[in-house]
Amino acid sequence: MSLPKLLHHGAHEGVTGSCHQLFLDANYSVLIDCGLFQGTDVSRNGAREHNQAIDFPLEGVRALIITHVHADHVGRIPYLLAAGFKGPILCSIPSAKLLPIVLEDAFKLTFSRDQRQVERYIDEVQRRVVALPYDHWFTLQRSAGLLARVRLQRAAHMLGSAYVELDLDDRQSQASCRVVFSGDLGAPGAAILKPSAAPERADMLILESTYGDRLHKDRSTRRQRLERVVEHALANNGTVLIPAFSVGRTQELLYELEDIIHHRQLEQAVVDAPALSHMGVDWPRLPIILDSPLASRFTQAYRELKAFWNDEAQARVDSGRRPLAFDQLITVDSHADHQKTLNYLVSTARAAIVIAGSGMCTSGRIVNYLKAMLGDARHDVLFTGYQARGTPGQAIQRFGPRQGYVELDGQRYSIHAGIHSIGSYSAHADQAGLVNFVTDMNEWPGEIRLVHGEAQARHSLKEVLARTYAEARRHVVIVSSDT
Ligand SMILES: [Zn+2]
Repeated sequence: MSLPKLLHHGAHEGVTGSCHQLFLDANYSVLIDCGLFQGTDVSRNGAREHNQAIDFPLEGVRALIITHVHADHVGRIPYLLAAGFKGPILCSIPSAKLLPIVLEDAFKLTFSRDQRQVERYIDEVQRRVVALPYDHWFTLQRSAGLLARVRLQRAAHMLGSAYVELDLDDRQSQASCRVVFSGDLGAPGAAILKPSAAPERADMLILESTYGDRLHKDRSTRRQRLERVVEHALANNGTVLIPAFSVGRTQELLYELEDIIHHRQLEQAVVDAPALSHMGVDWPRLPIILDSPLASRFTQAYRELKAFWNDEAQARVDSGRRPLAFDQLITVDSHADHQKTLNYLVSTARAAIVIAGSGMCTSGRIVNYLKAMLGDARHDVLFTGYQARGTPGQAIQRFGPRQGYVELDGQRYSIHAGIHSIGSYSAHADQAGLVNFVTDMNEWPGEIRLVHGEAQARHSLKEVLARTYAEARRHVVIVSSDT
C-alpha cells in the first residue's frame, strides 16, 4: 500500500501552528492538531491579525485528532469552528478535561469576552469532544474499501499528551499502512507523568524536532539546580520570575517546588533554625505566587486527574502531601489582585517566586512583571522552557546576560535583572530521545517527516537519523521542508 497523502498546514518550517492533514482516501481526511502560530512564525505566515484563520478547504475533513492541549497544538480550534468544521474532536481522557479550559481562554482572547457567547462556544466544543482511552483502537472509518483506525499512546510531554497511531487497511488488497504522528514527545523522568514507550512500528513517522540539535544535561539533578538557582537569586531579597506555560510546565514546577519545601521542612525539624540561617532563603515561609487564573484552573484540573499521575506522585499524595496545593502556594486571580501583588513586590524587599504566563513572554501577566522588574538587579528571571525565535523570552535569554534590552509592547526595557535558564527542565525529548523513539520500534519507519523544529534542529536531527539508518544498513527517506 502506498503512503497516504499528507499536507502540513503549520509547524513544518517553525515550531508553532502544528496542523497536519492526512488523507485516508481521495475524499476523506483527518486533521492532527490545529495550533496557533507564535513568535516569528506569526510574521512568516502573514499579518498578525489575519494569519491564524484557516486557509485550506475543509471539505472532506471528518475529524480533528489532538495530541495535547498546548496552544501551539490546539489554539486555532476557534478559527477551525468559525470556518465551518463540523466533525468530532478526538483526544485522550485527560485532554478532554483540559481542552475546554484552554479553549475558553483562547476564545476570550481572540473572539469575545461575552459570557453567554463563551458558554455557548464551550458547550459546542464539549459536544464535539470524544475522549479516547490510551492504548485502544478506535474506528474512524469503515467502508467497503477502507478501514481506518486510530490509537493514542502516552507521550509523557504533559498530562493527557499522546502520540497518534493511524492504521489504514485496504480491505480489497489486504494491504495496510501505519502512520505515526509524534506530537510533542516528553523527556524521561518528567514530574507527575507516567512514562512513554516507543511505537511498535510505523511506515511513515511525522516526528517533532524541537531539540533535534541538542542533548539535555542530566535531568536527575535538575531539582537541585532549581533549588540552587532560586537560593542564589533570592539572596538579595528580590523576586524570581518564572515565565511558564500555564499548561503542564507550571504544574511540574509547583510539584518540584513542593518537594524542595518538603525536604527543607524535614531538615528544619531536625536542625535548629539558627544553624540554617546561612542558607539565606527561608523556604518553608517563601511565598510561591501563581499569578495566572488559567494556570490555577489548570492546576485544579491536574489535581482532579490524579488517576493519571505516575507512581511517585501518587505515593506523595498517599503519604499526606499535597504536591499541587501546598500551604505556601498563593494563587492570584483578579486583575486588581495582580496589580496589588506586582506593586507590593516592586516596592518591598521581600523574597518571592512568581510563576506567570505566557511561557515565552509574548503576552499575559508575566509581561507586566518584566516591565516593572527587568531594570532592577535585585530581581531574576528563570527560564525553564523552550524560547522560540522572535519571542521576547528568547531576546531576554540572549541579551539579558549582556545587560542588553528587550522590546515589550513596542517599548525598550533595559535588562539588569539576573537571567538564568535550566534547559534540562524541558518537556521535550532531546536529540537522543527523538532518535530512540525511532530505533526502539520493532520495525523502523521507511519515511520520516521532520516537523516542529527550527531549521538547524531539523537539519541536525536529519543527519543523525540518516547516519543511524546507514549504520544499521536500513533505507529511509527523510523529508524536512528546507532540505
Ligand atoms: Zn507541547
